[in-house]
Amino acid sequence: MKMCIACGMPMTSIGDYPLHDITKNYCKYCAHDDGRMKTFDEKWHDLTLSYVEKHNVDYPIAKQTAYTILKKLPAWKRKW
Ligand SMILES: [Zn+2]
Repeated sequence: MKMCIACGMPMTSIGDYPLHDITKNYCKYCAHDDGRMKTFDEKWHDLTLSYVEKHNVDYPIAKQTAYTILKKLPAWKRKW
């Protein structure tokens, strides 16, 4: 089983892949409609907002937490 390199989500079915392309290392939530992987900034923004919603924390705290989570993932380790 593969894990999304950009968000860590386990990809268990073909429906988890962008455009059902199982050669990709990232999930559909980390891809644009055309199948390209989102950038760090885009994922950072996504994750921050979902963290604010789920955990009811202040935006700056969510942003910091999201950054820490993303930095541990293979897609973003080198770049930032
Ligand atoms: Zn993902």
